[in-house]
Amino acid sequence: MPTLRDLPAVDQLLQLPGSSQLMERFGRPLTLQAIRASLDDLRFQLKEHKLPSVPSNDQILVKTESLLVEWTKSTLVPVINASGVILHTNLGRAPLSKAALQAMAEASRGFSNLEFDIESGRRGSRLIHAESLLRRLTGAEAAIVVNNNASAVLLVLSALASKKRVIISRSQLVEIGGGFRVPEVMKQSGAKLVEVGATNKVHLSDYEEALIEPAALVMRAHRSNFKLVGFTDEPELKSIVVLAHGFGVPVVDDLGSGALVDTAKYGLAHEPTVQESLAAGADLVCFSGDKLLGGPQAGIILGGADLLAKIKKHPLARAVRADKTCLAGLITTLLHYLKDEAEREIPILKMISMRPEQVKGRAEAWAAQLGQGDVVQGESTVGGGSLPGESMPTWLLALDVKSPDKFLKSLRKAETPIIARTAANRILLDPRTVLIDEENMMLECLKKELYEND
Ligand SMILES: *Cc1c(COP(=O)(O)O)cnc(C)c1O
Repeated sequence: MPTLRDLPAVDQLLQLPGSSQLMERFGRPLTLQAIRASLDDLRFQLKEHKLPSVPSNDQILVKTESLLVEWTKSTLVPVINASGVILHTNLGRAPLSKAALQAMAEASRGFSNLEFDIESGRRGSRLIHAESLLRRLTGAEAAIVVNNNASAVLLVLSALASKKRVIISRSQLVEIGGGFRVPEVMKQSGAKLVEVGATNKVHLSDYEEALIEPAALVMRAHRSNFKLVGFTDEPELKSIVVLAHGFGVPVVDDLGSGALVDTAKYGLAHEPTVQESLAAGADLVCFSGDKLLGGPQAGIILGGADLLAKIKKHPLARAVRADKTCLAGLITTLLHYLKDEAEREIPILKMISMRPEQVKGRAEAWAAQLGQGDVVQGESTVGGGSLPGESMPTWLLALDVKSPDKFLKSLRKAETPIIARTAANRILLDPRTVLIDEENMMLECLKKELYEND
């Protein structure tokens, strides 16, 4: 039986050329740690009498290398979204346009005038960068960009309604997902939540009764990921605004997704647009940058200059501010809208506007390249808390495999994981959400799984 004395010393291992190579790749301190960890493991096995013979020094280094590879592997990796859910929160929501990516890289590469006024040579404000574009696009008087829409809501309520009443319909006290619950965020801000109406029916008179006592805000929240059907009713934003303004109370509309274009033109239901909310008289509108807008993660608050001035001054505004890469990507995304090229440049709008024949053509090309699979009809969804219950017709590649669950798992474990779905024991892949420049990589991986491993 080998004993502890048969194990090499750390120094011995460090003399080997293999160690120098590892140190070059992974740095000296980490390599040392890994060598020690490998030896510790061997020592443990020896003590437990689980080691019939001591491995060679080269074998120990192989083990060390695999430890180092594991320790330095990124946990955040690109995946291919073949699920047909366009705005998949778990898959990072909106992929960005080439120009937006370039702008973000450019903003990070060196220094920028993020908070520097070129004209005067003095300190400037990061708040101005997206503001003029947002004003031009929506007609709002003022705007601020923050980290995400959850922080936008928190900031609005904290700045305008702390310790004061905020009136909201019971039909809108929703959980968006990922732990964002409208009532909880409201409480977090210190606002006093005043619920009106019933879950399915809310009348203007419900709001009116609540407004008799002083209130800081009336809030409307997009229901996002669920739909109220059947015996339901609620007043339009416009009438809520007229009523609230009669009491001198401003109205904030949390749109969630925040479409700048009408989704009805793609054959989908009409998702309320930012411009409509403002036109209906909402004093403040907030929405996400990375949902239907198709930009980077951000929260955008638009509205009147007076209210925005209070919001910008609140200490939380500093805590939830947008970073320079976000601002660069958002500005570029907004420019696509301004230049009327959004549908051509913004990936999620390309996906939404892709015609079924186009999708079918791609699915057929995939089947041809793979030498198997059927092209079948199916549904893609928008996701991202927009257009609940809505789907769009699509074409899918359907593959028959021995064990669909095992196959899905091996696709997930590919070097670039592929996210697909199954139905009726078949693997389904939706070309709509697969980026064109990922197609070849995905097909190579599918071939390998189909012909070598399945
Ligand atoms: C998605 C959503 C939020 C949260 O937005 P994030 O950008 O994810 O922080 C808030 N309110 C509504 C209505 C939403 O749909």
